[in-house]
Amino acid sequence: MEFKNQAIQEAYKQFETDSLKLSLEDLKHAYKKGSTFFKDIYAQIKNITGDQKKEYGYEANTLANYIEEKINQLQLLSEVSNKGKEYLDPTAPFDLNENSSARLVPTDLEGTKNPLTQEMEKVLSIFKRMGFDIIESRQLDDDYHMFETLNIPKGHPARDIWDTFWTQEGLIPPAHTSTMQNRAMRLKGKPPIRYVIPGRCYRNEATDASHEHTFYQIEGVYVDKNISLGDMLGTIKTYLEAFFEMDLDIKVQPAYFPFTEPDMEFMISCPFCRKTGCKVCKYSGWMEIMGCGVINPFVLQEAGIDPKEYSGFAWGFGLDRLVMIKNGVQDIRRFHSGDLNFLKQF
Ligand SMILES: [Zn+2]
Repeated sequence: MEFKNQAIQEAYKQFETDSLKLSLEDLKHAYKKGSTFFKDIYAQIKNITGDQKKEYGYEANTLANYIEEKINQLQLLSEVSNKGKEYLDPTAPFDLNENSSARLVPTDLEGTKNPLTQEMEKVLSIFKRMGFDIIESRQLDDDYHMFETLNIPKGHPARDIWDTFWTQEGLIPPAHTSTMQNRAMRLKGKPPIRYVIPGRCYRNEATDASHEHTFYQIEGVYVDKNISLGDMLGTIKTYLEAFFEMDLDIKVQPAYFPFTEPDMEFMISCPFCRKTGCKVCKYSGWMEIMGCGVINPFVLQEAGIDPKEYSGFAWGFGLDRLVMIKNGVQDIRRFHSGDLNFLKQF
């Protein structure tokens, strides 16, 4: 603060110094209404003449208001910090300066991993034990990997579902982790190739309880000599039984993906009712878990692998959906909601 009148300016400085030096009680006493401090200030009015009198009066009142306000603030701070005997952090957000019992989050709560991260770690550890290597997908990719390498040329109708957001540079946030298939195969060069590829995927979705615009997918790629459909079904079944920690029945039904041939939808017996029918499986006894299929020869060729010599299979499943099924979560959007009451359950 700056005052034109020198006497007021000095009084102001004196208060500022005292407010740092004195205890709150002493400060309140020294600067209460009718104190020597204020008596001295107002006593000087009679020595001032003309226009300056008005200005002096105005500044004296401004200073008095300032002091009153400042003392009230100090009083408030002292009450808050006495309440919880805690250090007050004026820069802290939300309710952190409340005493601890009033806080939303108990201070002794240890941080936990998001359920998706927890389950992701379990999934990857199962696949590692099964002999798969792990590589991470990327959050931006190009048209070549996202479409061309997967047998989805320009103008292909499958682009409509996955052709979502584009950056100005012509990159796309992947709509599926299959965007990594070509890289995974080239990375190893020569079969046997066994990769599991977790990654974030993005869709242009109107979100609801079972659809989210951002979610995790886990891709699998397996290429070797004499690979059969039976190998694929056995591999996926083994993984899912380890994940749900129980025996499961499986079946497949036809589907369509441009990068596999034949393509199928992998289904498991409902882990909750064991095919007798319940709410979770919508009384069908079965659950659709993932898309999978034999890798299209074009996709192998595009990765420099001779389809006459080698064959392989691939799958992709949504981690979020699997975690929802396993834990009975009703709304996929809760994973990213930041709702502590939800997250603390895991
Ligand atoms: Zn069921």
